[in-house]
Amino acid sequence: MQELTHYINGAHVKGQSGRFADVFNPATGEVQAKLPLANAEELALAVQIASDAQIGWAATNPQRRARVLMKFVDLLNRDMDKLAEALSREHGKTIPDAKGDVQRGLEVVEYCIGAPQMLKGEFTDGAGPGIDMYSMRQPLGVSAGITPFNFPAMIPMWMFAPAIACGNAFILKPSERAPSVPLMLVELLEEAGLPKGVLQVVNGDKEAVDAILDHPVIQSVGFVGSTPIAEYIYGRGCSNGKRVQCFGGAKNHMIVMPDADMDQAADALIGAGYGAAGERCMAISVAVPVGDETADRLIEKLVPRIEKLKVGPYTAGNDVDYGPVVTAAAKEKILGLINSGVEQGAELVVDGRDFQLQGYEDGFFVGPHLFDKVTPDMDIYKQEIFGPVLSTVRAETYEEALKLAMDHEMGNGTAIFTRDGDTARDFAHRINIGMVGINVPIPVPLAYHTFGGWKKSAFGDLNQHGPDAFKFYTRTKTVTSRWPSGLKEGGEFHFKAMD
Ligand code: NAD
Repeated sequence: MQELTHYINGAHVKGQSGRFADVFNPATGEVQAKLPLANAEELALAVQIASDAQIGWAATNPQRRARVLMKFVDLLNRDMDKLAEALSREHGKTIPDAKGDVQRGLEVVEYCIGAPQMLKGEFTDGAGPGIDMYSMRQPLGVSAGITPFNFPAMIPMWMFAPAIACGNAFILKPSERAPSVPLMLVELLEEAGLPKGVLQVVNGDKEAVDAILDHPVIQSVGFVGSTPIAEYIYGRGCSNGKRVQCFGGAKNHMIVMPDADMDQAADALIGAGYGAAGERCMAISVAVPVGDETADRLIEKLVPRIEKLKVGPYTAGNDVDYGPVVTAAAKEKILGLINSGVEQGAELVVDGRDFQLQGYEDGFFVGPHLFDKVTPDMDIYKQEIFGPVLSTVRAETYEEALKLAMDHEMGNGTAIFTRDGDTARDFAHRINIGMVGINVPIPVPLAYHTFGGWKKSAFGDLNQHGPDAFKFYTRTKTVTSRWPSGLKEGGEFHFKAMD
């Protein structure tokens, strides 16, 4: 059995705590590795090393730091196949999805190569007699990030790329379920020239997370994962005086207006609802057709598409639409919620509960499900299912559909499908949700915009990547200076005449 490691001070390091987590291959259900779970002492050692390494790294000019990231991009492209395979083996997503995961992280790294431009301060010449004023963006020191299982490459890169571009050292605590790719990423960054200790990986569970939240040297904490943990980390991190940003769960609604292109809407729902087995924070899990006629047309288009979906292991090649969910516990939770939907009176139009894949009976596969006539009081509507399950809530009017999405406690992403520009504009302006698609089902902003939800989907002031990341990972210092040569008698400006 493979025993995974931490990555501390430029080397793979065995765990000392004696506690381990099982890492599964979700397609076969087998345990493929053991992951050490760090204790507070192991975390403290990494913080000490990070703190020492950060001094030299912050003193390295931004352009040199950016060059390391440039080289890192080349290495990510070189090792794309290897990274995708390792990612699919632990996560279960298809190889094209795994490559997309690496690619979206890579794009954030590319954006961070612009650090010299982004870190330029502001300057006011002659704010008073002989007085100039300037501001600079300085690194925070040691930052930490705690990441979820569903994007093991992209989300760590969302955090550590801007953090190190800004001159911080970074400690990453990845998900216990998909830890191999983060370990590969730190090795690649050091191959690209990152000094050891600037990025380290400490594997662990709540014990390591609490040690991060309580360590006085760590200045900032980024988190992405489920909402209850996001709230917990935000509260404890802030009360310990850290800068914290936490991104939580989702329940993304897609409103389908009667004038929408129904084939386009159905295709979009298949990709956004069932892609990556629904394990995306930007997955659409609720379809809201406006009017019964629209609902009937939509369901009619969806059913044959869902029945054609191919569920299988990533090793089966490119025609697999989605793979297993991440653990047996995740599968059990999803099936439990589906049963609750049936008990609470929703109509299960496509029932995947008996789905079995020959040769992979112990894998964590879940067949696709479609519910119709779901109501807002049902658990399948209120909770995030995070599986291949699409719920249809019928609305009579656009206003009712809008209110439904607005009243849900989650506010990560949403979409509207319509041909009417006025309705689309109204929706984009009024909806209280952070990321909005107009005829785009998964409106994930590109690296140079920012990513973040509203309501219970995000805690903190700044979003991920884009210009916000440079604000989150730096603090501003403003200097006011006065030099006597700028003063003339009487306090007016003058410029020395050239001799
Ligand atoms: P999770 O909350 O279970 O775990 C996330 C991280 O928190 C992991 O590193 C884990 O070790 C740690 N953790 C778990 N329990 C903890 C505890 N009790 N105390 C301290 N730390 C703890 O989430 P997950 O299952 O890995 O990921 C899926 C969730 O992430 C979904 O809710 C999904 O919507 C959300 N997500 C959100 C975004 C976003 O940008 N909003 C992006 C991706 C995923």
